[in-house]
Amino acid sequence: MPLEDDLLRMLEAYPRTARALPWRQTRDPYAILVSEIMLQQTRVEKVLPYYERFLGLFPDWAALAGAETDSLLAAWSGLGYYRRARNLQATARAVLELGGVPRDEDGLRRLPGIGPYTAAAVCSIAFNRPALALDGNTLRVLTRYFGLSDDPSRPPVRRDLTRRILPAIPPGRAADLTQALIELGATVCLPQGAPDCGACPLAPGCRARAEGRTRQIPPPRKRRRAERILQASAVLLRGGRVLLGRNQRAGLLEDLWECPGVDARPTQTPLQSLQDHLESLGLATRLLPLGEVRHAITFRSIRCEVFQGGIEGDVPLDGNPDWAWVPPEDLGAWPVPSSTRKVLDLAAQRSAL
Ligand code: SF4
Repeated sequence: MPLEDDLLRMLEAYPRTARALPWRQTRDPYAILVSEIMLQQTRVEKVLPYYERFLGLFPDWAALAGAETDSLLAAWSGLGYYRRARNLQATARAVLELGGVPRDEDGLRRLPGIGPYTAAAVCSIAFNRPALALDGNTLRVLTRYFGLSDDPSRPPVRRDLTRRILPAIPPGRAADLTQALIELGATVCLPQGAPDCGACPLAPGCRARAEGRTRQIPPPRKRRRAERILQASAVLLRGGRVLLGRNQRAGLLEDLWECPGVDARPTQTPLQSLQDHLESLGLATRLLPLGEVRHAITFRSIRCEVFQGGIEGDVPLDGNPDWAWVPPEDLGAWPVPSSTRKVLDLAAQRSAL
């Protein structure tokens, strides 16, 4: 039974080769779910400092369910994809209502923001129940292992892999198997035809390796072209404090705090668009260029021209709870997106803050 033998060899190798990551030291479904959500489209190195801090602030379902939006978003500030934080909180509230976290994939999938991969990962890692967590990494390992050259994002490929793997999971080893597969995909069976097959415990039964097809499997994905966006943003100071406004548009950045800014209109320079926008807010002032920052968000490639200006006296938005004049030393604790963090960092570098 080569598959069973290879899986056992992978499980044997796992404790010797695995990275010591904090979410691997626990079986607490809450802590595991937090790690899985943070790791979605985000590198391990980036998640590490956020994970422990987040669990320190919100150690369990109840603490997260009761968190203020601003504290929640501040704890997530810089990780991106803020909807994940909101969904995590909605999940915590749902778990409290249910009286406990579901222990099966179907129940987990009914929670907000939990897709098939996360449900399978939590089900197997936290509850040690057989489930196959398929993301880009584990799909790459398994399609290579079985020599499947179809597009792995197609549901029939996923079903086929699940049908092959689930019966072969050694009894009581579902949690270890998920972790070992994830680790193999992240450290050994790397993309772009660069797998380290010599170090791979699955090598004896691997079809792609035997047939010299590791470069062809999985087939390259068609990349969507990034949309280029030109923006302008203002760092406005009054009495040494910088102006931030709450983003009230439904979407990725909702409720995060940003410097006033606009997408440049096609018929105007970024500066003109920004001046018009500030005038509409009653914030007309002379603007001086500070430089530019670049930022990518989903399929948008953004270049933002940054300006500084001073405001004196009262302005119409004073007293509005969606605007705040923030002392520069407090900015680190505010829930701002990475794009705004870059704008503020640029202003600090240019001694504008
Ligand atoms: S033998 Fe090579 S291609 Fe096959 S699973 Fe291991 S690292 Fe990937």
